[in-house]
Amino acid sequence: MKFGGTSVADIDRIRNVAHHVKREVDAGHEVAVVVSAMSGATDQLVKWCEQSLKRRHIFDAREYDAVVASGEQVTAGLLAIALQDLDVNARSWQGWQLPIETSEAHGSARIVDVDGEALVRRFKERNEVAVIAGFQGVHPQTGRITTLGRGGSDTSAVAIAAAIRADRCDIYTDVDGVYTTDPRVVPRARRLERIAFEEMLELASLGAKVMQVRSVELGMVNNVRIFVRSSFDPPDKIDPHGNPPGTLICDEGEIMEQQTVTGIAFSRDEAQISVRQVLDKPGVAAALFGPLAEANINVDMIVQNVSSDGKTTDITFTVPAGDYQRALDVIAKAKRAIGYVRLDGATDVAKISVIGIGMRSHAGVAAQAFKALAERSVNIRAITTSEIKFSLLIDAAFTELAVRTLHSLYGLDKAA
Ligand code: ASP
Ligand code: MG
Repeated sequence: MKFGGTSVADIDRIRNVAHHVKREVDAGHEVAVVVSAMSGATDQLVKWCEQSLKRRHIFDAREYDAVVASGEQVTAGLLAIALQDLDVNARSWQGWQLPIETSEAHGSARIVDVDGEALVRRFKERNEVAVIAGFQGVHPQTGRITTLGRGGSDTSAVAIAAAIRADRCDIYTDVDGVYTTDPRVVPRARRLERIAFEEMLELASLGAKVMQVRSVELGMVNNVRIFVRSSFDPPDKIDPHGNPPGTLICDEGEIMEQQTVTGIAFSRDEAQISVRQVLDKPGVAAALFGPLAEANINVDMIVQNVSSDGKTTDITFTVPAGDYQRALDVIAKAKRAIGYVRLDGATDVAKISVIGIGMRSHAGVAAQAFKALAERSVNIRAITTSEIKFSLLIDAAFTELAVRTLHSLYGLDKAA
């Protein structure tokens, strides 16, 4: 069971979480719980780190980790106390105590190994619930505390579930599952009963904030079934053997009723850059994208045409809107090496992505979208596709119209 920041935001909510845990224990389950810091706590800790610097620009990442890991230490201890108060045998664990071994990349460490043996032994011998601080681990060679990057407690939870070979990893959060698209934009968005790891990975990478991308990756690699559900449902009204509302993220083999399209993601935080009339010869793309990569600018959709005269062509791509100006500067600086004629750009663009593993075996899925959008006079600036996804770049003003149109087109609307 994993509880995020809003689920442990104050003492009342932590006590509510304790009731959720007790329900599962009473139903006969062996339970490990992973907690985030109280919502806002990590932001505050990060801010304190920044405010402690006056002369330098960056802080020692080892000390940053020592500070920010503390948020989860607090909630783990508090939840153990709240559980004991309900006569549930519970013990808190920090990352270094298990240990959860990670790489040395402080601030964004990767989990290398989790020792779940002590947890499993204590389930058996003492019927003891393990309450584990998420987000943190230890680098074994230096013995220093590490953290996994923002949102990392999802990854802690999935890694621990894998280590103790849990039947399921329940992610309790402030929504009751994964939706076909953002319900604030499409009121007829539906909660998905099931979604395949690969689809969820696309959704998470495209900015659906339900889970950290890395946690989904880890679930896919280790085949940990992940169940996203709400922590705000009253703990005592839930039948622990029943079918609570939520979304199961699982292997595609477990999904019976396969739809062609599972979900639609969109982002308005995109910017388009077009590099006009570059020479159509080897090395030009490298000269363009090399410096952008060095500047740590994430390039997404890349479209290049085949030149008609064998001489010059255009390259269009997108970057996060926040990096737009920086990207233009980087390219302008490399103008000599790239050898382009003109640089165009736009920030009022949106990327709409349609996702579904059914696309692998169905032809013409994207063609349907082109037709439907054309009928609504939505112009498409750029298109990219992969095996289970296609993305369209359009004018930002048409975002809602396009998402709603495609949502109905692919039969995702819930019954009125
Ligand atoms: N507390 C950490 C953060 O806010 C980790 C997490 O909540 O998953 O990023
Ligand atoms: Mg989170």
